[in-house]
Amino acid sequence: MSVKKKEITLQVAQKLLNHLPEPLNGELKILLDRAEKGQDTTIDVIDLLSAHDNIRLWMQEQISIQSDLKGDGTRGFSSLAGAPTSVPASQKWVCPKSECPRSLPVIREDEDPPTCEVHGVVMVRVSKKKG
Ligand SMILES: [Zn+2]
Repeated sequence: MSVKKKEITLQVAQKLLNHLPEPLNGELKILLDRAEKGQDTTIDVIDLLSAHDNIRLWMQEQISIQSDLKGDGTRGFSSLAGAPTSVPASQKWVCPKSECPRSLPVIREDEDPPTCEVHGVVMVRVSKKKG
């Protein structure tokens, strides 16, 4: 994995802090702290977050947005052939401000909605169009 891609992976993972339930959050925090001190924990971060489908898909989506789809063909959150490459719309939280790109994966159906860090508003689930 390229250095650039590792950086992006860690940056994206950082956005999940505060949103992940324990013990995932605590484990991610430890890995990110170690990365900050210069250790290469990217693979551990990927292993930790890949365990949850929505998180894995969301990471993949965010990383591809940030790396502008210039994949380096090495191990990361790349999907298997034929597997979905992004989180189903109903499985993510988005900022209600239409121009805001912020999103977060839904981790548990009964979780509290996260808040958009930019706008300070409660994020919403994308639902099917109202009839
Ligand atoms: Zn926003």
